[in-house]
Amino acid sequence: MNSVSKLFQDLIGLLFPNLCNGCGHSIYQGEAFLCSKCLFTIPYTDYHLFPQNKVAKQLWGRVPVNAAMALLYFKKGGKVQNIIHNLKYRNQTGLGIKLGEMIGDRLKTAPDYSGIDLVIPVPLHKKRQRNRGYNQSELIANGIAATLNVNVNTTFLLRTATTATQTKKGRYMRFENMKTVFSVKNSENLAGKHILLVDDVITTGATIEACAIELHKFGIKKLSIAAAAFAE
Ligand SMILES: [Zn+2]
Repeated sequence: MNSVSKLFQDLIGLLFPNLCNGCGHSIYQGEAFLCSKCLFTIPYTDYHLFPQNKVAKQLWGRVPVNAAMALLYFKKGGKVQNIIHNLKYRNQTGLGIKLGEMIGDRLKTAPDYSGIDLVIPVPLHKKRQRNRGYNQSELIANGIAATLNVNVNTTFLLRTATTATQTKKGRYMRFENMKTVFSVKNSENLAGKHILLVDDVITTGATIEACAIELHKFGIKKLSIAAAAFAE
């Protein structure tokens, strides 16, 4: 880089500092999306190492799942809330890929997640995706798939209805509300496959459950679950 463009870059950096998505402080060259301090201190679950973790247990008796994990614990007011907020509402698309790569690095060596054939993100409704410009779960899925060297598919599992915000509904109502929201297209491509279903945040598991029920109708071999965060 010549000195003029370096100067220009430094100026841009001063005007639009590159901020950490976790703590909001400036980040240094060589860091991307999260500062080193956040990378070392954000609450990792290590759920990929524990088959009987809280995400997996939450789905027991509801839908057959081979393995389930989330990368981080989500707590109100914490750094993970900032990370998810920036991912969903602040156009931080690179952050989504980064979170996916962090998940992929962990799944690579976790035996329960071996042999994944296809990564499928929880879809957004077309209209919502158009407004936001991207599907944050798809970004995470892309990061995971690139790390595991498998394909992502965004056309087999579709969200065919919009849902009102779910935050005030209980678990049963949430599932009732989600039941008819998803559908599968080109189902012949799913038969015999180990699918990794990817969401941004798992809360009650209602969304995962509704997607899983649809996917299981079409002869998939195994369904595993990964999310960026788990909110109890
Ligand atoms: Zn930070």
